[in-house]
Amino acid sequence: MNTQQTMQPDEDGILKPRRKELPRSAAEAVDKIVQQITQLLDQKIDLCDQAFAEGYDAILQLYDQYQQALLHYLGQPAVCRTTCAYCCLHWVEDVYSFEIALLARRLRQNLPDQAARIRALAEDDRRVFEDLLRSGEVQHLLGRGRDEAAWRLLVQRFFEQRRPCPLLTNDRTCSVYSRRPLTCRAYISFRDPQDCKFNNLQSSLNACIVELPEEVAATLDELHFRFARYEGESSLRLLLANYLEDTGGEN
Ligand code: SF4
Ligand code: SF4
Repeated sequence: MNTQQTMQPDEDGILKPRRKELPRSAAEAVDKIVQQITQLLDQKIDLCDQAFAEGYDAILQLYDQYQQALLHYLGQPAVCRTTCAYCCLHWVEDVYSFEIALLARRLRQNLPDQAARIRALAEDDRRVFEDLLRSGEVQHLLGRGRDEAAWRLLVQRFFEQRRPCPLLTNDRTCSVYSRRPLTCRAYISFRDPQDCKFNNLQSSLNACIVELPEEVAATLDELHFRFARYEGESSLRLLLANYLEDTGGEN
């Protein structure tokens, strides 16, 4: 069996190859990502420094190169476009805190009116999510210790509410597209974008999450914990509400 055959998404739609499995162009992009992260960690650059924002922008571009190289190698091009946005109805989990801190700071500095509107939307999402968390069906599963099933149901119910990400514009484009978080970039579809009207990851393997190799993800986690201000919080909408409300500190 060759590497292309073994490198497949798992049952949850997650594609997480090992560094040694990667084709050369993807491996080169990964190595450059590690170099960039190491610089950010070693130089102890503050989140407020322009060098941090520029360093992370470079990482995002390298991730895109990695993903394209990998998909090309696997012969599975993504069908994603900038204007189809069913994936932006999801409760996006597992973003890095510093990604949202950077986005929130740029919004507050450059588009203060937009920042207030986005914060209000994110606060509304927080209320909807908390109501769903308190619902009988979710609490029933939690009461039986079935936390994973409860979480899946909770995010499915949120998706069914059809609430666009607060960063999505009225013309269905991402207002921070070039700087959208890695988790948004990682979610792709191989089939008809119309299939994304449904929760693809839970219904089939039409969609997939292209993750970085484990050792790279670990260094990004290190960066996340260095700057995390809201312990245990990693969802895009909640972090957005928090960081846009937060006017103090380094952000
Ligand atoms: S994941 Fe689906 S909805 Fe999102 S950009 Fe790709 S094709 Fe469009
Ligand atoms: S940040 Fe952009 S890409 Fe990500 S969910 Fe929001 S609108 Fe969609």
